[in-house]
Amino acid sequence: MSLIVQKFGGTSVGDIPRIEAVADKVARFRAEGHDVVVVVSAMSGETNRLIELANQVQERPLPREMDVLVSTGEQVTTALLSMALDKRGVKAKSYNGSQVRILTDDAHTKARIREIDDERLRRELADGYVVVVAGFQGVDDGGNITTLGRGGSDTTAVALAAALKADECQIYTDVDGVYTTDPRVVDGARRLEKITFEEMLEMASMGSKVLQIRAVEFAGKYNVPLRVLHSFQEGPGTLITMEEQEMETPTIAGIAFNRDEAKLTIEGVPDTPGVAFAILGPIGAANIEVDVIVQNVSHDDKANFTFTVGRSDLPRAEEILRQVAQELGAREVSSDHKIAKVSVVGVGMRSHAGVASQMFEALAQVGINILMITTSEIKISVIIEEKYLELAVRALHSSFGLDEETLEEGTA
Ligand code: ADP
Ligand code: ASP
Ligand code: MG
Repeated sequence: MSLIVQKFGGTSVGDIPRIEAVADKVARFRAEGHDVVVVVSAMSGETNRLIELANQVQERPLPREMDVLVSTGEQVTTALLSMALDKRGVKAKSYNGSQVRILTDDAHTKARIREIDDERLRRELADGYVVVVAGFQGVDDGGNITTLGRGGSDTTAVALAAALKADECQIYTDVDGVYTTDPRVVDGARRLEKITFEEMLEMASMGSKVLQIRAVEFAGKYNVPLRVLHSFQEGPGTLITMEEQEMETPTIAGIAFNRDEAKLTIEGVPDTPGVAFAILGPIGAANIEVDVIVQNVSHDDKANFTFTVGRSDLPRAEEILRQVAQELGAREVSSDHKIAKVSVVGVGMRSHAGVASQMFEALAQVGINILMITTSEIKISVIIEEKYLELAVRALHSSFGLDEETLEEGTA
């Protein structure tokens, strides 16, 4: 007998027939004798609906009130699933974040979990209950409801699995595992048997929203056995593993992409020490995260400076940059939000030279111009024009041999 944490995402609890189907599945695990903690998301579309309601009332609602509002979606599904389990003769109890006591910091709408008090959950499990916990939410020191950022139910599940030392954390969703790239974009995308925590973290950070970044961080830190599976199809899913030295790893595990960034350029700034700080200091002080940065010096001893920020931060960043431009006597400020970032990710890159040139060659062959480049030990990212995104992902997917047809036996 083992202890399993199972998380069901929005589409998996999107209507009553699906909630009934989830209840059947949980009941089967229970009948096999496992202890089960279930984490649920809100019904699909519900969190967006609640955010839209708030925006009808106020342009920038107080984050505390946003959290009170958006956390309601998950409370609904915990109760409905508990009822569906009860109907099947399975003892079940719903719990919201503050009842469990998922203690977070007070950073409303993007809170971090500090501590989980697992005592009540353990007692319920010992009494034979399936505990159905609301994902995405917690409570701060002052008793205020907090939420963990979009996609945060994944993190609730992994954190509970870590606290309870569960045998496995199963993330059930609308795809049957982690793919070499988003299967909704590339038909030939292929399910991975295994992916390392490190690769999964880069994939998630670079835009593959199949798992929330923090969930992967948590799983890696606490060594939580983590698996992504389809809610309603049988199959092994994808196991997120520690890196195995002897594992015959393909060079590239997958391709991630993200359309959430925008690019800003300030031209003709003095090429002197401190200029990067003069530009990026005020951006950072405004709590705006900067991603890719490129500086080039032109023949007149002036420098051009280009960097990317989240698309929703663009108006504010541009405002700040125009101010900075005046102070520095810069020639021009321009911006572009029609960009996208494409990344190839793989731990195999460490021991294989030539990944970057293969990537650039593949993009050149389909006539895609690279605007910016950035690398880490196991990832290379390029910024390109957004209109070429799908073409780029497809070209890279096949260049690195990830397409289903080109799959060699046993490389997964
Ligand atoms: P849930 O509501 O269950 O949390 P999400 O929508 O958050 O589901 O995540 C699942 C989706 O992630 C899939 O439908 C798929 O389109 C997308 N996705 C993006 N990249 C990948 C990838 N590499 N592998 C699998 N799914 C991916
Ligand atoms: N319901 C939340 C969201 O849509 C959390 C989640 O689904 O993981 O972001
Ligand atoms: Mg999700």
